[in-house]
Amino acid sequence: MNETVSSTTGVAYQVFARKYRPSTFADLIGQEAMVRTLTNAIQSDRLAQAYILTGVRGIGKTSTARIIARALNCIGVDGNGGPTAEPCGVCEHCTAIAEDRHVDVLEMDAASRTGVDDIREVIEGVRYRPTSARFKIYIIDEVHMLSRHAFNALLKTLEEPPEHVKFVFATTEIRKVPVTVLSRCQRFDLRRVDMETLKAHFASIAETEGAKVSDSALHLIARAADGSVRDGLSLLDQAISHSNPDSFEEIGEDAVRAMLGLADRSRSFMLLESVMGGDVAPALDLLDQLYKEGADPLAVLEDLLEITHWLTRIKVVPSAADAPEVPEIERVRGREIEGRLSMTALARAWQMLLKGLGEVRQAPSPIQAAEMILVRLAHAADLPTPEEAIRQINSSSVGSAPQGAAVVAASSLPSSGPGPSSPPPEPVAVPTPPPPRVSNNSVSAAPSASAKSKQDAAKHPLVQAVMATFPGATIEEVREAGVAPLKEPEYDLADESSDSGPDQD
Ligand SMILES: [Zn+2]
Repeated sequence: MNETVSSTTGVAYQVFARKYRPSTFADLIGQEAMVRTLTNAIQSDRLAQAYILTGVRGIGKTSTARIIARALNCIGVDGNGGPTAEPCGVCEHCTAIAEDRHVDVLEMDAASRTGVDDIREVIEGVRYRPTSARFKIYIIDEVHMLSRHAFNALLKTLEEPPEHVKFVFATTEIRKVPVTVLSRCQRFDLRRVDMETLKAHFASIAETEGAKVSDSALHLIARAADGSVRDGLSLLDQAISHSNPDSFEEIGEDAVRAMLGLADRSRSFMLLESVMGGDVAPALDLLDQLYKEGADPLAVLEDLLEITHWLTRIKVVPSAADAPEVPEIERVRGREIEGRLSMTALARAWQMLLKGLGEVRQAPSPIQAAEMILVRLAHAADLPTPEEAIRQINSSSVGSAPQGAAVVAASSLPSSGPGPSSPPPEPVAVPTPPPPRVSNNSVSAAPSASAKSKQDAAKHPLVQAVMATFPGATIEEVREAGVAPLKEPEYDLADESSDSGPDQD
């Protein structure tokens, strides 16, 4: 169904994801642990009745299920072989399974057939011996989608399946599969394929296809694939078919960037740099430019998020930047920007960007949402961190009253206070919000030092925000939260356990 016949050449064109679909265990990349276990099990004739394969989409679960079906049913070139870890690929069973037409290998998608009737059909079929193969194999994809009744119906068969039946389940959400089912299956977790392995794999396929793809372009594709071989193959396919096959030109980073709707990396760094420096205007200009050039606002923010993660990482583990697979720009620009940002600023940027991504996805105009997020980020660059703010409030009640007020609103008070003599560790200019008004009378007439500082603190925008979030909180509680770790919120434990407790059966 993915095949189209080119009208000019008459040669069937197959999309890469299908053309390079693994057909033996050796073809499966990045899943060595699973392959070893399965190979050993087949060689020592210790076959489980049911297997469950789990992992993110596009990682090769159904491919693996089919390879298992082949391995169990292969009869070898001479027709006398038994189950093998290296299916021959030429016997009637191997070829029929590869072509999706084997009568004894039944594939069903639980996403579309979730009901108990569908499973009943399976259970009925289980009683009959395979028509031609050694085993009757049921491959159920997205098995977590089955209804509870369907699972229950399946359970009886799973408990005592006939000798000639094997089940192979695949799922992206293993936690939705009942424990009772899981406990009757041999489980394999398919791993996300790491970037280097993906890149090498794509490079070899590009070579087989006679296409020249630059190293940085392959890097981008491997990154966008996010651990999924299939997704990466589709992107590679797209990149190669976008290029002119007769030009023999190398497919470069720019072409792939444009295809993925990504912004130029150096400009993403630039964007983050100006935003984190509080420079809104140049940041908005740059975003606008990127947008006009075809960059997707969501992709731009994802880039910023990724760079923020990278900066945080090299702040914690500086040697990470020296790894050979790290591109030059990430290393040089990363170090440059990281040196100027505090960990708190990075953590805050991460949170704001993450939240922003959701907003961009929902907003009627993604570009507007992205702009708002940049403005917010740049604005936050000027704000004190919560710890700083709380430290200021804290010091204001410990020390003399006017000092506290001076720290919180240094600009709005006359310089006569004792503030300047003992500056806070990191003087921060709080932007515009309502400056704490000094009581109408005069500073010296304040009722008492602590009451005065409390009043000032209560007017601080951050404190107001905290108080609004936690109605009923007192200033003291907010302050203590800054010095001592937060108290564990009191959950209603009894309620929780009664809800999820008796899951054992
Ligand atoms: Zn075979």
